Amino acid sequence: MFETLKNPPPDSLLALIKAFADDPRAGKIDLGVGVYRDDSGATPIMQAVKDAERILFEAQDTKSYLGPEGDMRFVAALQPLVFDKSTSHVTGIQTPGGSGALRLGAELITAARPGARVWVGTPTWPNHGPVFQSGGLTVCRYRFFDTKTQTILFDEMMAALSGAAQGDVVLLHGCCHNPTGADLDLDQWREVADLIARRGLFPFIDLAYQGLGRGLDEDVAGLRLVLDATDEALVAYSCDKNFALYRDRTGALFAQARTAAHAGAVFGSLAGLARVNWSMPPDHGAALVRIVLESPDLTRSWREELVSMCARIGDVRRALATLEPQLAFLDRQRGLFSNLALAPEQIDALRTRHAIYMAPSGRANLAGMRASDAGKFVAALADVGGLERAKAAVIAP
Ligand code: PMP
Repeated sequence: MFETLKNPPPDSLLALIKAFADDPRAGKIDLGVGVYRDDSGATPIMQAVKDAERILFEAQDTKSYLGPEGDMRFVAALQPLVFDKSTSHVTGIQTPGGSGALRLGAELITAARPGARVWVGTPTWPNHGPVFQSGGLTVCRYRFFDTKTQTILFDEMMAALSGAAQGDVVLLHGCCHNPTGADLDLDQWREVADLIARRGLFPFIDLAYQGLGRGLDEDVAGLRLVLDATDEALVAYSCDKNFALYRDRTGALFAQARTAAHAGAVFGSLAGLARVNWSMPPDHGAALVRIVLESPDLTRSWREELVSMCARIGDVRRALATLEPQLAFLDRQRGLFSNLALAPEQIDALRTRHAIYMAPSGRANLAGMRASDAGKFVAALADVGGLERAKAAVIAP
């Protein structure tokens, strides 16, 4: 049986995690793995989540099965963070993280329209292509961002989407674009929303970092323009970053449908697809998010801590941009990541000479850095010649 299998190449990011852990040098900096870190380098459990865990421990009296749709009170509590109250025919189910939501969304689209195409701007989260493909979609790519000038190639994006056929799916990053940190501004969102409505395209929005960009409401202002402009859409939601639940695999897939009957059919189809994939999603993380969002006190605590996490990332971005004008673009970008225009040799040199670990693509998780590391990082970039290549960014708007 197994003789036909090929061992896929190891995931470069996982290899990086191990290499970082094994590095004995003091002051090493991990900009690789995509998790938030505080100023001491830890990825803490949020206070509201810890409090919810205590409540859950005391109150939970069974771990009996829920169902393929998961915890529907969790789904109901999460929905208003994304959708305006006035949006009708919204349905959703709990999924194992944002990844599970993306996969289920792809399978739902394939069930509704076999052979559907999805338009994905590059660069993007490396898992988007494989997940969509495994879910039965045909992936079409267009250039979204130029790392040398650190600019969104909006004209190329609009040209690509103008060439899409009616019913084609358009992947949009809700906020905190991974890996570039470059989000559409509201005018651009409006143009994309108009185009989607005009050409009958189907938006699939990946929202994995709400609250880690400009704020909970600000981070969904753009995608709401799309949801307003069209009557059908999918939103893949991850709670793994904004509730710091990573390994608890907490997410949801929401669908906006044209009619109540369509919404019902979507819900049933999603439950059926979940049943043949994972049967039921893991409960723990979703139960915690439900407890937080159903309690005004815990919600306040969660929101405050999220604001302080967001502010810390902003401090790192500002410190780098202030120290080095060639990195001014970092302060215009949002979320954990920016994608620096570095050659593979420069990324190697950062690791070997300076104990700074970055993904081979040049993606840097700025939340992995202390603001006080900014000087060291800028000096290291200069040492490996990494600032020369960023020069074009100075003149970019
Ligand atoms: N979408 C994007 C853009 C992401 O960066 C990630 C996580 N890195 C996900 C989805 C998946 O999130 P989760 O860990 O909840 O599966």
